Amino acid sequence: MSQPPQEQPDPQKSNPARLAKRLRRIGRARTRLVVCFWTLPVYVVAIWVLLNNGRNIDSMMWIYMAVYAGFAIDMSMRHCPACQKQFYVKSIFLNLLSKRCVHCGQSTTSSEFVSKD
Ligand SMILES: [Zn+2]
Repeated sequence: MSQPPQEQPDPQKSNPARLAKRLRRIGRARTRLVVCFWTLPVYVVAIWVLLNNGRNIDSMMWIYMAVYAGFAIDMSMRHCPACQKQFYVKSIFLNLLSKRCVHCGQSTTSSEFVSKD
């Protein structure tokens, strides 16, 4: 969420170290949301235990949903350093399965720059 829009031309854009750093940040945003999905069974069990103990689960549900929403928004706001479009978002859906830019194919796992031809 702290990522400002990258519309203006960036003189440092061709710097490979900086590019790799940006790609790592994009990859980490995805990892956070994927990890969040993996905690879903834990969450379901926790809710079940709390309900059996007669506890109020409202706050836990809201916190969990807020964390999800925060990570999803963070991920959707990541912009590809190669094509400047939203890295994971094509139309309205987040692409959680791909480690590549949905527009130009730039990978987060490699610092190699995809040429746009
Ligand atoms: Zn791209």
